[in-house]
Amino acid sequence: MLRTHTCGELRIDHAGINVTLCGWIQRIREMGGMTFIDLRDRYGITQLIFNFQTQFDQFEKLKQLGREFVICVKGVVAERSNKNPKIPTGDIEILVDSFEILNPSVIPPFTIEDNTDGGEELRMKYRYLDLRRNVNRKNLELRHKMAIETRNYMNSHQFIEIETPVLIKSTPEGARDFVVPSRMNPGQYYALPQSPQTFKQILMIAGFDRYFQIVKCFRDEDLRADRQPEFTQIDCEMSFVTREDILLTFEGLAKHLFRIIKGLDIPDFPRMTYDQAMQEYGTDKPDIRFGMKFVEITGLVKGKDFRVFDDSELIAGIKAEGCSEYSRKQLDELTEWVKRPQIGAKGLFYIKYGLDCVLKSSVDKFYSPDDLLKISNQFEAKPGDLMLIMAGETELTRQALGSLRLEMGTRLGLRKPEVFKPLWVIDFPLLEWNEETKRFYAKHHPFTSPVKEDIPLLDTDPGAVRANAYDLVINGVEIGGGSIRIYNKELQKKMFRVLGFSDEQAQEQFGFLMNAFEYGAPPHGGIAFGFDRWCTLFGGGESIRDFIAFPKNNGGRDVMIDTPSTISDDQMKELRIRFTG
Ligand code: ASP
Repeated sequence: MLRTHTCGELRIDHAGINVTLCGWIQRIREMGGMTFIDLRDRYGITQLIFNFQTQFDQFEKLKQLGREFVICVKGVVAERSNKNPKIPTGDIEILVDSFEILNPSVIPPFTIEDNTDGGEELRMKYRYLDLRRNVNRKNLELRHKMAIETRNYMNSHQFIEIETPVLIKSTPEGARDFVVPSRMNPGQYYALPQSPQTFKQILMIAGFDRYFQIVKCFRDEDLRADRQPEFTQIDCEMSFVTREDILLTFEGLAKHLFRIIKGLDIPDFPRMTYDQAMQEYGTDKPDIRFGMKFVEITGLVKGKDFRVFDDSELIAGIKAEGCSEYSRKQLDELTEWVKRPQIGAKGLFYIKYGLDCVLKSSVDKFYSPDDLLKISNQFEAKPGDLMLIMAGETELTRQALGSLRLEMGTRLGLRKPEVFKPLWVIDFPLLEWNEETKRFYAKHHPFTSPVKEDIPLLDTDPGAVRANAYDLVINGVEIGGGSIRIYNKELQKKMFRVLGFSDEQAQEQFGFLMNAFEYGAPPHGGIAFGFDRWCTLFGGGESIRDFIAFPKNNGGRDVMIDTPSTISDDQMKELRIRFTG
């Protein structure tokens, strides 16, 4: 090794020993004829002192040094007179005898500090400098620990990690595929896996019984803060299990990670049906760190000549405790907030239950104080509360009210980042109707088994069929999802028919799986977790990009290596591709 210790290692007990350290120059300060350098590596920062009183005589060379130079220093550990309690090495410094420049550095385009002056695009271009910053290093360390602990848990539960191919045939997970042209098979293409779904099922047919993989998946979708074109899943599958077995096994994984990574013992996860989640929270990924559940008042408010309510399918609201004294201005601002296109509500109504016990509302014209009291009772409101009400078509109203609920939760400080409330959402619908294409789509994916009792409904009322599917939701974030699978060829064929595939199309695309079902497929089921999201949640981050070493930007570009990029004419020719503009 070029060094005897790291820059985070030395303590007062080491005083007096000779050491050699290597690292990057964080900062240089000159004071009273002495030079101080903060030397940084992955493990920490150590103060170096270049002093006339030591044998040090390389003052000319010292002048050449600058930020981010890589140096190797030899010296003696000494107790510091001016201790720095903020860093673990703050009791000592190195009295440097000699040093060597291992590599100089040009001036970095932004400061390598926690609060850097570099904007996102610049930091991504120089990601290797950005990754030298503490925040990013900590995020990647957390990610590493999560991966190791996942492997530990899975290994101790007899799961075997098996790699599946990256060049595959399209898997229908609902997103667009990335495709790769095949040189050896002109005119034919591979697809990159949106997930290893069909492979993990085939591994169950192959008898592996318990599989997992921490695996890259690819989906060509528009990007947001919590999406990347390539992302990582903890992908899992088990044989001879019921839904209950899967939920308990992976609740175990989640609890293990909570315990080891966050030091938290989380009680058993509650379960909520999809219908309940939609009805009470307006979303299938409810944040249950706080209440503020929806209260439906449709029956109570109709028939009072208020057209908006009379014409609405659903009238529902939330109760914001302690907000009755919101000003006109605050309420107008909230109304504008819900009317923004992202939320898309037509309006917002309110009832204030004043601290003076008087009820005031934006619909006073139509509702008597007695009516308002009845509505307030439905909300179980008390003086000091504010009821925020929306009306319209059921699904849209619930969606908009769900967004408002989250916003109010944030504004009232009810979504504490240090609190974690996981839950399982179960009994999803199997299918989703698309009005535009006039056909059903699988809500999860086409390999998901319907709930047994609902199978006959596939012929009569497919929209009402429940799926044997489940999601793990933590603090309003969908961390994972999975299902019990179909393992019978006939049922799988029927599912494809309901999804609008002809038997020939289904056979052409998924014949390999359906044929495999004929060779003794065990009952099986599984789940996959969004690893980047989970790390982001545990790390208290906003964007999954901060927990990925080399992420893409919103345009799907890697600005460091500058790709996607064109390929040479020769490559195009070889692949028999022509760009048509
Ligand atoms: N393959 C599914 C997904 O990526 C997860 C699963 O059903 O196991 O969402």
